[in-house]
Amino acid sequence: MTLTLTVHRGTRCIGGSCIEIRDGDDRLILDVGRPLDAPRDAKGLLPATLDTTLPATVLFSHSHMDHWGLVEELPPAWPLWAGEKSAELIHLSTELFGGRLDRDIHTWTSRSGAIDISGFSVIPILTDHSAFDAYMLLIEKEGRRILYGGDFRTHGRKSSLVEGMITSPPAAIDVLILEGTNLRTDKPVINEAEVEDAFVDLGRETRGHVFVQWSAQNIDRTVTLYRAAKRTGRKLVIDLYGADVLRRIASGTRLPLPGKSFPELKVVITPGGRRLYTRQGRDAFVAEMATSPFATSRKRLVGDKAFIMTRDSMLDDFEKAGLGFTAEDAYAFSNWSGYLDVDDPKSGWARAQAAGSKTVKVHTSGHASPADLLRFAEAMKPAALVPVHGIAWDDPGMAFPAVRRLSDGETWKLP
Ligand SMILES: [Zn+2]
Ligand SMILES: [Zn+2]
Repeated sequence: MTLTLTVHRGTRCIGGSCIEIRDGDDRLILDVGRPLDAPRDAKGLLPATLDTTLPATVLFSHSHMDHWGLVEELPPAWPLWAGEKSAELIHLSTELFGGRLDRDIHTWTSRSGAIDISGFSVIPILTDHSAFDAYMLLIEKEGRRILYGGDFRTHGRKSSLVEGMITSPPAAIDVLILEGTNLRTDKPVINEAEVEDAFVDLGRETRGHVFVQWSAQNIDRTVTLYRAAKRTGRKLVIDLYGADVLRRIASGTRLPLPGKSFPELKVVITPGGRRLYTRQGRDAFVAEMATSPFATSRKRLVGDKAFIMTRDSMLDDFEKAGLGFTAEDAYAFSNWSGYLDVDDPKSGWARAQAAGSKTVKVHTSGHASPADLLRFAEAMKPAALVPVHGIAWDDPGMAFPAVRRLSDGETWKLP
């Protein structure tokens, strides 16, 4: 049989990744992501070259939508696989807006070792990324080894996992499928410990609250903020959604979880949050949170000093209860800056500025820097490197080894 590799989407864009490895009738699909620029209700987004009339098995590298977001368009008979906690986050994301994913997802863990999946040997390798429970996938068939790097970085709280691979790389990699999100950006990336220090400084110099806008699914950041809160004698206040995320993934981990062991962690229930969960039919969850000892209210927070999870949609609820921004407060935007429009008067940023609060951006990328990508690629010593998840792979001056440039939908027969 002949092993072939097809990147259905992703050779020249970031997000919407879809990659196929095929050996005769055996087909593995790595990620079926939603393009980042697709309108929310858009349907029919599967890449045209992905044949859905034949059997296949799908592996999701991690829980970011640009890697699994087209799951509902896949043939119902195709088995799906993901990391155990990633599967939980995928379900949570579909349920959040009242949907429901009526599909089973088979799961692996970081200790699974080699799994036989439709004739391929698949080794999931836990990696460092802004999505929790993200994996690289080492795939073997017919004596060939393909390493799919997924999305990764070397400066998060799990950096030692990737550094360990660089020090002792898997032997004899025939193909490395590598992301290149941060190519063409020359900003240095800071590590998550430096982000924590920046929040500690902010907590110390701020007399009032520190409002922070971050993604509840960016667990590294949640841990960073929890630690910064503890170091500055503050509480970390998350909303119902933040609490939901932690409860769904924290079992078997050392993650902070609302409860006795983490007294600095509080949950605030806003009318908007309550509506979101009532709409999902989860009144029991709201009631459980509301009556727990770690619940707090907007009113009780007014006189307190905390790091408070904030989203633009929560600001009116905060304001109505007297928890609006003041000149004593700080507002930190802790997401990718592309998501922030500082000129939008409804944004937390603009509203904080109007109130005289200090505004800062505190963030680090979920993806490796160009220098770290190169270091990783060189250490893996692949016979061929297939670029994906990037827009700058064709820029002059790239020094990556053994590049095999494919086009979307082009099928490459491995030599
Ligand atoms: Zn991605
Ligand atoms: Zn990602």
